[in-house]
Formats: sequence, structure tokens, C-alpha cells
Amino acid sequence: MTKHDPTFNFDNTYARELEGFYVQWQGAPAPAPKIVLFNSALADDLGLESNALNSPDGAAIFAGSVTPTGANPLAQAYAGHQFGGFSEQLGDGRALLLGELLDKKGARFDLHLKGSGRTPFSRGGDGKAVLGPVLREYLMGEAMHALGVPTTRALAAVTTGEEVARDGLKPGAVLARIASSHLRVGTFQFFAAREEWDKVRKLADYAIERHYPELASADDKYLGFLSAVLERQASLVAKWLHAGFVHGVMNTDNMTISGETIDYGPCAFVDTYEPKAVFSSIDRDGRYAFGNQPVIAQWNLTRFAETLLPLIDADDSENAIRLATNVINSFVARYTEFWIAGMRAKCGLASSEAEDVALINDMFTAMEGQKVDYTLFFRRLADASLGQDDTLVSLFENGEKIRAWLKQWHDRLLRDSLDPSERAKAMNSVNPIYVPRNHRVEEALVAAEAGDMAPFAQLLEVLADPFTKCDGLEDYEGPAPDGFGPYKTFCGT
Ligand code: AMP
Ligand code: MG
Repeated sequence: MTKHDPTFNFDNTYARELEGFYVQWQGAPAPAPKIVLFNSALADDLGLESNALNSPDGAAIFAGSVTPTGANPLAQAYAGHQFGGFSEQLGDGRALLLGELLDKKGARFDLHLKGSGRTPFSRGGDGKAVLGPVLREYLMGEAMHALGVPTTRALAAVTTGEEVARDGLKPGAVLARIASSHLRVGTFQFFAAREEWDKVRKLADYAIERHYPELASADDKYLGFLSAVLERQASLVAKWLHAGFVHGVMNTDNMTISGETIDYGPCAFVDTYEPKAVFSSIDRDGRYAFGNQPVIAQWNLTRFAETLLPLIDADDSENAIRLATNVINSFVARYTEFWIAGMRAKCGLASSEAEDVALINDMFTAMEGQKVDYTLFFRRLADASLGQDDTLVSLFENGEKIRAWLKQWHDRLLRDSLDPSERAKAMNSVNPIYVPRNHRVEEALVAAEAGDMAPFAQLLEVLADPFTKCDGLEDYEGPAPDGFGPYKTFCGT
């Protein structure tokens, strides 16, 4: 059913230019759609009318029941390596792209529904999503955005009025999501696996036009494209490590071409610093552990490079492999550059010295096995920069190593001609005081599922300004209480 809705001004380049890359499809009818959350600030940025959309009509649209004027709903085809094993066909099994919107600055975004019913790509799945995970994705995306990490974002969360079977019956829900695009490494893999090279080329040209237009007329544009995607992913994953974020399911179908974080399933923020930290119940071998994310990013980019080889050099596959390998091999250096630049800022270093890498590595060595809270560590490092080492040292079980390190670090700070209070301010502007602590997220979701949205709304508000310490919000600063126990997350829910 189509209904007139003047609030969207859709464009549909994906539908128009990439026929054969999707299935046109409609959302399932929802018995009683209701808006649970609406992101007015994001709606404003997108030039949408919040009043018209934060309404029963908007609820029906975001649930997938009603197709707004100008939308061209479709399920995208993609493949992907999941935990290292290749699936030739995944695709939008419970999602629909409604169309593209241009924001006030002219930037293009997908409006996408997740949980809107079965599609031809659903395989055994029911095509649905439930309230807890939908709210979780909403919260995590907004938190990452406020932290300055490129990410998809939530425009709205709605309940459908339907009960969905998930470890008992849960309220069915749909997330309306905004993304620079939903092009994934897995989208390229879908067509490369079928050796449909014309389609891979068409997809690459589309992606270049949309995300890397400066490459469109370059001679070696496909190699440049690989390099540009690698650059954005290296920057993104460095930001994850700066923030203490574990994505949890870095399958190639969950890696974007735009360089945005996508698919907040089993993700979590670390409390204590631990490179081996894993939260996902299914990641038994630690493939997607906190400290392993750069390694996996490079592995995924290698899979991406494989899909582009015939485009890089159609006549000489050896040459194509050599060129692509050079780009892939540049990942470690590029990632390290991003990582070090961010770490320098976190540690208050204003200039660059070659020895900074060793200094920062020594800092992490001092933290190892000490159950130090990652977020608090950097906040208290700003206090230490003003001469108050003790609150930082008190985070450690044994303060010996960190005291020795602090001495080296204070010496290093002296070599930057920076006003100490300016330095501390700069550090606090990159080191958050509020992150989505696992116990806080759980508490908010449990209350929301029981019908009380107040804790969720408060948490969302706190996370919208993560760098400014506020009196009265001390309960949002600290790690989980001892009784909280090890945290487990679940995906595909
Ligand atoms: P994800 O783990 O959410 O990245 O999803 C991996 C694949 O499983 C994608 O093809 C999804 O569309 C599909 N999928 C996940 N959950 C469901 C579901 N409940 N019904 C149908 N397909 C699903
Ligand atoms: Mg996914």
C-alpha cells in the first residue's frame, strides 16, 4: 500500500543504477506499529519533518507496513565470510532499503529498516527483530557518533505490536537506520564469487561515485579504490581501539565500503584493558577479540582486494595480485599511524617523537594483568598531567610499573611547550568520561523491555555528551560492580 507522504524526498540511485543487485520487496504488515524512540536531531539534519514522522503515520512507515511516496523498497544481495567461512548468499534477510535521502549539506544517506519481515534472502530466519537488540543498536550507534567514530545511526525505533519468538516471546521491533550506504565487502563478494565481473565493475564504479568521487577519473582507479577503502577502515578500527570498542562480529558482510561502523549485534565496550577481551557468546576462539580487530580488518580487506583483481589488471593476473598485495601490505603502517596519532592525543603529547610508540607500548605493558579500567585510566591521566598521579595509580593492583612509566611520561611532557591546563583540557576532549558501560546498557534494556524507558532515555542523554563531566552522574562513570560478573552478548537477535 502506498500513501502520500510529503516528508521524504527520496532519490533511489541504488535501485536505478544497480538492477540485478537486489530484489524489490515490501515490508510485512505490522499489527500495531508504535514509535518508541525518534531521533529528532538526526531528522533535522536530514531535513525531515519531525512532527509529521514522530506520529502514527511515521510508525507505520518505520515498521515497514506502509511505503512512503517515492520510496523503492528493496532487499540487497550480499555474500560474506562469517568467522572465516564463506557464505555465497546472505543478503538482507530481515532488512529493506527504502531509498536515499540528501541531508542539508547535500550528503547522501540510505534510509534502511531492520526487522521489517522475511525477504528472499531470509534463509531459515523469521525476518524479525525484537525490542532489546533494536534499542541496543540505537544506543551504541548514538554513543559512537558522539565519540566521533564514523557510524550508521538510528532515526527511529518502533514496536510492531507483534510477539516474536526469541528465548520466549519478545516484543517485535524495527530499527530505522541511516547510513552513508549499505555497500559492504560482502556485496562485492556476492558478484565476484559468481564471476560476474561486469557487475563487480559496475558496483565499484557506483561505490567510487558515491564515496570516493575524487577517484572517478584516475587511471588506476580500482587500485586507488582499494587503497581508499583500506585507509578509511584503518582509521575506523584505530578509533575503535582508542574508544575501547569491540565490534564482536567483523564478518566481511559487516564491513562497509564507506568506512562506517555497521551492525551493532554483539558489540561492547571494554571495562578493564584486555587485548583478548571477547563478549560475543559465539566467538569462542577470540577471532574478533578487542586487540585482534586490526588483524581481522586487514584479513577482510584482503578478501575485498580479491574481488577487485580482474578490475585492477584484466590481462595480467600476476600483476594485479602484486599491485593489490602492495596495498594490503600497507595496512599495518597506515593503521599504526592512525593509532599512534590518536594515542598521542589521548596521552597529551602535542608533538611527535620517534620514541612515542615505545612509550605508549610501555604504558599498555604496565596496564597488562592489572584489571585497570580503560576509560578511567585516560581520564585520570589528565589529572596526572597536572601532577596528581595518585588517583591514577590507585586503579592498579600493583602500582610499581605504572609509577616508573609516569616518570618517563612526565619527562616527555616537559619536551612539549604546552600550558598544563590547556593540555589537560585537550586530553579530556578526546578521552570520554561516559561510555556505554555494559552493566548500564543491560540495566536500561531490562527496564525498557519491562515497559520503563526512563533509564534508557537517561543513558542515551548521558552518552550524547561523553566528554563533559557532570555533577550527579558519578554512577555512569565507573566500571560494573563486582557482582555483575562476566558479560556475554548475542548476535542475530
Ligand atoms: P548479522 O549477523 O545481523 O550481520 O546477519 C547476518 C545475516 O543473517 C544477514 O544476511 C541477515 O540478513 C541474516 N539474518 C539475521 N537475523 C535474521 C532473521 N531474524 N531473519 C532473517 N535473516 C536474518
Ligand atoms: Mg550484518
